[in-house]
Amino acid sequence: MESFNQPTNTNGDMHMRTKIVATLGPASMDQNVMKEMVQLGVRVFRLNFSHADAEYFGPVIQKIRQVEKDTGIPLTVMGDLCGPKIRIGEVKGSPLQIRKGAYVCLGSPAMSGTTESDIFISLDALELLEGLEADMPVSLSDGMLQFKVVKVIERDRLVLMEALNGGILTSNKGIAFPGKTLKLAAMTDKDRRDLHQGLDIGIDAVALSFVQSKEDIEDIKAEIARHGTWIPVVAKVERKNAVEKLESILEVADAIMVARGDLGLECSPAELPIIQKKILRACRHAQKPAIVATQMLLSMVKNPIPTRAESTDVSNAMIDGADCVMLSEETAIGSYPVEAVRFINEIAQYSEPYYLERLGGPYVPKAEKNPPKFIAYSACLMADNADSAAIVCHSTTGATARYISSRRPAQPIYAMTTDARIMRWMNFFWAITPVESPLEPRSHQKRAEKFVQEYAGFRPGENVIIASGQATPGMGTVMTNEIKVYYK
Ligand code: PGA
Ligand code: MN
Repeated sequence: MESFNQPTNTNGDMHMRTKIVATLGPASMDQNVMKEMVQLGVRVFRLNFSHADAEYFGPVIQKIRQVEKDTGIPLTVMGDLCGPKIRIGEVKGSPLQIRKGAYVCLGSPAMSGTTESDIFISLDALELLEGLEADMPVSLSDGMLQFKVVKVIERDRLVLMEALNGGILTSNKGIAFPGKTLKLAAMTDKDRRDLHQGLDIGIDAVALSFVQSKEDIEDIKAEIARHGTWIPVVAKVERKNAVEKLESILEVADAIMVARGDLGLECSPAELPIIQKKILRACRHAQKPAIVATQMLLSMVKNPIPTRAESTDVSNAMIDGADCVMLSEETAIGSYPVEAVRFINEIAQYSEPYYLERLGGPYVPKAEKNPPKFIAYSACLMADNADSAAIVCHSTTGATARYISSRRPAQPIYAMTTDARIMRWMNFFWAITPVESPLEPRSHQKRAEKFVQEYAGFRPGENVIIASGQATPGMGTVMTNEIKVYYK
């Protein structure tokens, strides 16, 4: 009979609960660098399709699989699709100094002869102008230039705007219409191509940028199904209307990214901290993992240590209940990719015990009327009561493991599953160590017991809580219905 791989969840001496997502780039494509990052807590590698394509990433995934083999740690490759990032076209006379209060026209290149203003910004995607009305905000150049619409000169073709601050205007900059629902699907033709090619080279998860609705997620799920497979979809929340529709997006998405870079353009940076907290709470309630992303340790692109504000930000994300924290430029193009990961690891060593102490025990809603959920919650209570070394569950779909993680128990969670795709999804969840389970023995509980017996991380005499499902005569689909205190 097959034996279990000995899973590793230790980074040094520590069981790290927060998962680290590291963006790969020129600074981190080396296999040894990747390995060091994994040993310090990286479980998800992000491949950014805004910067390269599947042909480039194919060999990178081979390296990740090698690191997975060498370390014995399951690793998740997340393809991040660029989505409809919208940019302005040419600005005549660029760069232009804009004064506060200046009038500027924005419209179809065909309208560049307008006499309403001397300054003209062209926009190819005219559908973005649909529904634009006086007083609506428009933001340019990563939010450095803010405008408001003064009047619509020609519907869907030309508007006049007033600059709310001064600054430099140049061609081809990003443009945002904060809060406005745009007639743009999140998945572009390029994204569709990148998705299929990404699946061919073996991505385990996909992130979709600029999601606006549940339908955007359903579209990409259908596309993945057309490819004949399933992988988890991460909805990048970076539009204000996605924040407003979060509940329905959470029904279908498999994970959420608080994409603070672009979200910070759509809403005021002053509002961002509280939006982050609200998103994280909603994710935990929905038992879906949340990634906090962008500018976490940005100064480490150039410096070997972070600013005080940055280390505090990472710690606060952990205390807000993030499942994952993400590094972008820090690991992709920075001078200190491994050091940045090590800082997150060290911040976790201080922050996680504090978080658990402040919770004062697992969250257990007494009003929960769903038996599989309540049994998962009960496993957390039991683990506390019996001073257990861990909670082990067998989870075919990942549901039981998700329920347990969302209660934030103090004990490590080992989620056994026979499906390698579910196993790699589990890498996004707080405190879960995924374990690939053999198909034998048939009973899930026996499989879990065998794992506890064989796993060197549990000492004889220690106990572990096992939550598993065993069919009974009146049960339809098998669901978790047993908790056992197993003494090794
Ligand atoms: P990006 O997404 O890095 O792909 O833009 C993250 C963000 O906007 O924060
Ligand atoms: Mn973004």
